[in-house]
Amino acid sequence: MEPNQNNWLRTNWIEKGNAQRIFVELKFTLRDCNSLPGVVGTCKETFNLYYQETDSEVGRSLRENQYVKIDTIAADESFTQGDLGERKMKLNTEVRIIGPLSRRGFYLAFQDVGACIALVSVKVYYKKCWSIIENLATFPDTVTGSEFSSLVEVEGMCVSDAEEEADNSPKMHCSAEGEWLVPIGKCICKAGFHQKGDACEPCGRGFYKSSSQDLQCSRCPAHSFNDREGSWRCDCEDGYYRALSDPPSVACTRPPSAPQNLVYNINQTTVSLEWSPPADTGGRNDVTYRVICRRCSWEPEECVPCGPNVGYSPAQSGLVDSYVTIVDLLAHANYTFEVEAVNGVSDLSRTQRLFAAVSIATGQAAPSQVSEVIKEKVQQRSIQLSWQEPHQPNGVITEYEIKYYEKDQKDRIYSTVRSKSTSATVNNLKPSTAYVFQIRAFTEAGYGTYGPRLEITTKEEATAAIVSSEQNPVIIIAVVAVAGTIILVFMVFGFIIGRRHCGYSKADQEGDEELYFHPGTKTYIDPETYEDPNRAVHQFAKELDASCIKIERVIGAGEFGEVCSGRLKLPGKRDVSVAIKTLKVGYTEKQRRDFLCEASIMGQFDHPNVVHLEGVVTRGKPVMIVIEYMENGSLDAFLRKHDGQFTVIQLVGMLRGIAAGMRYLSDMGYVHRDLAARNILVNSNLVCKVSDFGLSRVIDDDPEAVYTTTGGKIPVRWTAPEAIQYRKFTSASDVWSYGIVMWEVMSYGERPYWDMSNQDVIKAIEEGYRLPAPMDCPPGLHQLMLDCWQKDRAERPKFDQIVGILDKMIRNPNTLKTPVGTCTRPISPLLDQSTPDFTAFRSVGEWLEAIKMERYRDNFTAAGYSSLESVARMSIEDVMSLGITLVGHQKKIMSSIQTMRAQMLHLHGTGVQV
Ligand code: AMP
Repeated sequence: MEPNQNNWLRTNWIEKGNAQRIFVELKFTLRDCNSLPGVVGTCKETFNLYYQETDSEVGRSLRENQYVKIDTIAADESFTQGDLGERKMKLNTEVRIIGPLSRRGFYLAFQDVGACIALVSVKVYYKKCWSIIENLATFPDTVTGSEFSSLVEVEGMCVSDAEEEADNSPKMHCSAEGEWLVPIGKCICKAGFHQKGDACEPCGRGFYKSSSQDLQCSRCPAHSFNDREGSWRCDCEDGYYRALSDPPSVACTRPPSAPQNLVYNINQTTVSLEWSPPADTGGRNDVTYRVICRRCSWEPEECVPCGPNVGYSPAQSGLVDSYVTIVDLLAHANYTFEVEAVNGVSDLSRTQRLFAAVSIATGQAAPSQVSEVIKEKVQQRSIQLSWQEPHQPNGVITEYEIKYYEKDQKDRIYSTVRSKSTSATVNNLKPSTAYVFQIRAFTEAGYGTYGPRLEITTKEEATAAIVSSEQNPVIIIAVVAVAGTIILVFMVFGFIIGRRHCGYSKADQEGDEELYFHPGTKTYIDPETYEDPNRAVHQFAKELDASCIKIERVIGAGEFGEVCSGRLKLPGKRDVSVAIKTLKVGYTEKQRRDFLCEASIMGQFDHPNVVHLEGVVTRGKPVMIVIEYMENGSLDAFLRKHDGQFTVIQLVGMLRGIAAGMRYLSDMGYVHRDLAARNILVNSNLVCKVSDFGLSRVIDDDPEAVYTTTGGKIPVRWTAPEAIQYRKFTSASDVWSYGIVMWEVMSYGERPYWDMSNQDVIKAIEEGYRLPAPMDCPPGLHQLMLDCWQKDRAERPKFDQIVGILDKMIRNPNTLKTPVGTCTRPISPLLDQSTPDFTAFRSVGEWLEAIKMERYRDNFTAAGYSSLESVARMSIEDVMSLGITLVGHQKKIMSSIQTMRAQMLHLHGTGVQV
């Protein structure tokens, strides 16, 4: 009731600790002034709240001006007397915040200037964020900041056996309200530990975790173990290893077993070895082979390393394919070759080396050159020669071969005669004609090289009188008559039957030259010349017992029936994989004859690059032809499937094989007529073999063959112009086809002349255009193709020369190097076709499609190469960084980029900076 009230109430000193922002919660009741009669002017409905900061207690003295006012507090709800009576006193709650505080403690003070007030409670507190584990990091109790808006940044501590993720240390933020906000970064369990709830637990026995980045512990990979908890890797079992580059997640592996089925072939001082992969690769797919060569003395057997003078093709070690050729060995020496399979852990193993070995007997060198050839007697139609035995016969000479050809004859088709002594007479020559002779000796070790060329001209044509003095005219007339009859029979026979079946008589193949040449060589015999085709089959092919053949599955369709794969087990021999061509049921006699014709032809050949006939089944049903099995099928499909995956040496190796097969066939006088990559088969060792024999059948069967204006059915893109125009099929026209096969191989099965029509191809060839070098084709190889495509067939190389050229290239791999993008530049409109106009492409996708690399479209997009300009700036490292791992593909893309760059330069006259 008294005026000017000023009543203070002060708290004890409150030590604030870490708090900077203090909350004060007041609970109080307050009497409504209106409910108090007679207090007007003195009654108040508010009170004041103050605080004072001090570093310590200051005793009981109180000076008002030392206090800072926090607020004047009013009641939301006051009460009246009546309320009191009815016990309806209203409790008010007010919260005020003070801070930031800087001293050690403070006092609170309440000033009452005339209110009827009951202060029921005062709660003084501060807020904090409670300790927490988040993302495997512990964050301690944290007092909130001084301001309402402040966030206190707190670093987390990784729980035990966890570590901070790289560049991502854990942090959280404590808000003024005491809540954890904005977690950043995290901890992850160390190697050997995995997360369980908010802790890291060790991997159990038999499990490992190699890196903190892995989420889970994994079971030890095959052939490894551990018997500790918390392991980051597993140890290899005895005899198993991990290569340095092997991650802990891969199985432990061991060295491979020895290669199998090592076989060899000796040709003078060259030995070829071939083997099958080891039965056990040790669990790895990086098996390569190395060859160890030792030269051994006769007795006692002591061997020394062969040394650096011996050459290995493709290499002595690191061989990916299971064959090698060893050249420049000494003649008359004894060698041992060990072939060892090695893999990534071979060098870690201390177990005994496993290898396959062959000892190759001495004396396998061919005789040296025949020298001092003398013309003993020269007649009009015969020449008698004699010569000396070679200086180094290297064995018993069983035969001499005299090779000769007409000097001015364009085709240089060789003929040969053989002699067991050091002299021979060559008959059936033309008068007044120059001939070139060369002689070589033959021993068990094979043929020696030919001696120097000797040119001799036969005597002039004799008059009738002279003839009569030399030869008996009666005999001449008889010979002419018999010959005439034979030719007549051949013509009639060939006309009526021959062309319809194998259609492949010598006379047909090469015209009259063929009757005239090749007296004395082992020549190919047209099965059609046999009256009974069954006799021809049994003359050249072995009859097999059907019970020796096990058909396993169908692998293709031939003209006469299914082609299957299976096994052939002959008594006393190992079983071998074979392809089995069957003759479908319900065949006609003609179909049977045509079907077996292929066997009659193939059975005459025996060469590693010509598919080998195992035999035929003609006495049972179905009628079958059994051929060696060529695991990789036809060459064109094989190359397309493995686009860009071979080295140039491997491709040239394939070409060399095909050329060697063709050399053999042409030496036998066989003209193939349908040489094309689709008619070459490939085995598991990448050995290529010529196949598809029996012309009319092959060509009828060949989807590439079309009827030409000259009447025959011809695979135009592969055939020489003279064969298309006037059916002049010779070994020289096979050489043309071989050039096309070279192009198919180097372009991984691209279609010759792309989508040009056959008519356009014929026209373009006639006008002198030729296929350009495929992408990344060494210039030397393209030159060889161009040589095979000489218009004048006499100018084309012979298969013999082609093999020689390819051998040289294989021996000097430097000649096969093509600096990226330096392939032959276009020299004619047709050549232009291989080089698309890159400036015409509108997108990277379109460009990739044109170079058949569209599979990498996503790689380019993901790396941000969205324009051709950006692509044109790419380096080989950029291309590799896209994840393009195949070297062939890298080269293809790089070569195209370089051309694109050159074209852009040409177009814009400015360079593209790289
Ligand atoms: P062909 O009737 O000779 O053209 O054979 C038809 C298909 O059978 C060929 O394209 C090959 O895929 C397959 N083929 C033929 N001979 C063999 C073989 N010796 N080894 C493996 N596959 C073969």
